[in-house]
Amino acid sequence: TERLLDVENLTVEFKSGGSTMKAVNGVNLQLNKKETLGIVGESGSGKSVTATALMRLIPSPPGKITNGKIHFNGRDLLAISEKDMRNVRGNDMSMIFQDPITSLNPVLTVGNQIIEVIQAHETISKKDAAAKAVEMLKMVGIPEPEKRLKMYPHEFSGGMRQRVMIAIALACNPKLLIADEPTTALDVTVQAQILDLMKKLQQEHDTAIIMITHDLGVVWELCDKVNVMYAGRTVESTTTRQLYEKPLHPYTWGLLESQITMGTQEQQRLPAIPGSPPDLTMPHSGCHFSSRCPLATDICRSKAPDLVEVQDNHFVACHLQSKEQIVARKEGIFNA
Ligand code: SF4
Ligand code: MG
Repeated sequence: TERLLDVENLTVEFKSGGSTMKAVNGVNLQLNKKETLGIVGESGSGKSVTATALMRLIPSPPGKITNGKIHFNGRDLLAISEKDMRNVRGNDMSMIFQDPITSLNPVLTVGNQIIEVIQAHETISKKDAAAKAVEMLKMVGIPEPEKRLKMYPHEFSGGMRQRVMIAIALACNPKLLIADEPTTALDVTVQAQILDLMKKLQQEHDTAIIMITHDLGVVWELCDKVNVMYAGRTVESTTTRQLYEKPLHPYTWGLLESQITMGTQEQQRLPAIPGSPPDLTMPHSGCHFSSRCPLATDICRSKAPDLVEVQDNHFVACHLQSKEQIVARKEGIFNA
């Protein structure tokens, strides 16, 4: 396996008024070629900011990458010029978002928009680019592509628009595709179709994927490994399988509980993680999860836990570091 992305100690701050918010606080990520990494957490956990920072698209001001390294495909992305970075974005890394309608231009046909992207990447006649656009729409499973090219974004369903965005994102044959909640706005059936499509395209094109989501179901579906984020930090990171079988961080249990009960009648009975994330503009000395954690003790409120490898390839940021200790406490709580 070959390393594609290495992120070290990534820190992103936003200033507003007199205060500074650490939206991302010392995050590490590793991704090999062709691998799929899920970044999961509630809204405000820093997952979208992390993705935006990887693309070097943090709006500045008010935002700024204040620390860390991003090594991608052999280059240090924080050291290269804006022009080189535009090249990376156009050729090696692309991103799709939750709501494709905002990324598509409403007054241009879908065909013209795809042709524009193709022509931005290669020297090719409009006619050849149009033929290529038809191929791309076919690739993402859009029926009657010749006809569809002449239509406007509002004439497409949400799922079809997301297919168009995937086609555009893959047009440059990127090594890395970053997808920020790409199926959240879609209904369940269409969601499943889009995930299947991404899986299939990933296998055909050998693309690595970073999947940003609040939905662990999406992680099970698509990802090899996963980073759970809370309040700007990684609290747990391991393989998807390990996270599913032996989640170790109390926040991860909460996430799992909330997703298992979601959509069932038990929903009302079990608000899985009571409370809300801390205010990231305030200085905080302890574990960020301590105000919501059923296992918090004195040390949790005074000292932030480091991310530690508690077993092979399983990293957890919690003062309860031994697995036995965690499981015993967990059983005490959840079986009480
Ligand atoms: Fe809970 Fe303490 Fe672990 Fe934080 S460090 S998750 S408060 S037990
Ligand atoms: Mg987000």
